[in-house]
Amino acid sequence: MAEVLVYVDHADGAVRKPTLELLTLARRIGEPVAVHLGAGADTAAVTLAEHGAVKVLAADAPEFTEYLVAPKVDALQAAYEAVSPAAVLLPSSAEGKEIGARLAVRIGSGIITDAVDLEAGDEGPVATQSVFAASFTTKSRVTTGTPVITVKPNSAAPEAAPAAGTVEQLDVTVADSSKGTKIVSRTPRESTGRPELTEAAIVVSGGRGVNGAENFPVIEALADSLGAAVGASRAAVDAGWYPHTNQVGQTGKSVSPQLYIAAGISGAIQHRAGMQTSKTIVAINKDAEAPIFELVDYGVVGDLFHVVPALTEEVKIRK
Ligand code: FAD
Repeated sequence: MAEVLVYVDHADGAVRKPTLELLTLARRIGEPVAVHLGAGADTAAVTLAEHGAVKVLAADAPEFTEYLVAPKVDALQAAYEAVSPAAVLLPSSAEGKEIGARLAVRIGSGIITDAVDLEAGDEGPVATQSVFAASFTTKSRVTTGTPVITVKPNSAAPEAAPAAGTVEQLDVTVADSSKGTKIVSRTPRESTGRPELTEAAIVVSGGRGVNGAENFPVIEALADSLGAAVGASRAAVDAGWYPHTNQVGQTGKSVSPQLYIAAGISGAIQHRAGMQTSKTIVAINKDAEAPIFELVDYGVVGDLFHVVPALTEEVKIRK
């Protein structure tokens, strides 16, 4: 069976959920071979094996943390040359897309980014993308070289599929040309304790209807009761009520959670672009004519300052 390379997104060996989703999708095409760069490969291999990785190619080098992505591209290219895979899958994070694009150029392959589904086809993997602010769904196939495909978080549910997950060392020579951009400092963001916006299974977002930074705790309280991430519309971000890192939409982040709750958001096309692929959409808006109601699964016409706290209390009671 053909092997499929899966780039592992992790924090010191703690494998992030989008990688487990990639392993699930990779098994539709062939046998997943995980590529783990940096510290913690042995710890990560346990989780990777539980989710179907037949092999884990591991490399650790100071260059992976000292420089921007180019040394990781060297490593992924080495894995590609060692395995000759049927496809290379990466998460659709900023890093995943940059590594994927650079690898595709180096190996002369086509790339598909931001896939939301993946299936085996007669002539290679077929990727589904949601385009033009999610107005259309397209299916595409790479016709040149080995397909390199980045997949959006929450595109598949991670499935347990025990496999060997044998760790093999990968020989990597980091080229001098890959050391062109050195990281000079890192400032960790203050942790909110909430999940990362693009990876969260549930997102609760507030818009202009929240009417001030001082009211965002209403949105945060509902998010915390559900274990959700907090999002915001551009109107709320531009007003300085919430950080840009939490903006959902065309010029913010694109999310596909199981559940998206929009409170005080009208549903402009640029906002939809970042959330329309969510599995279940709920809107709370006091205007029954708000365009957001065109795309929701459940809509509540009402004042968010009544509805959201009531919902938070109900969630707490049922927990
Ligand atoms: P509004 O459109 O003002 O809607 C507020 C809603 O809150 C209304 O529907 C109102 O009925 C409701 N409301 C008010 N008070 C309450 C209450 N008490 N209870 C319940 N409901 C209430 N937007 C994004 O979100 N993300 C982007 O990435 C983005 N990128 C853009 C890129 C470009 C190039 C452009 C031109 C625009 C972009 N926008 C983006 C902006 C977008 O067009 C909208 O202006 C924006 O999404 C509106 O945000 P909003 O829904 O919060 O505000």
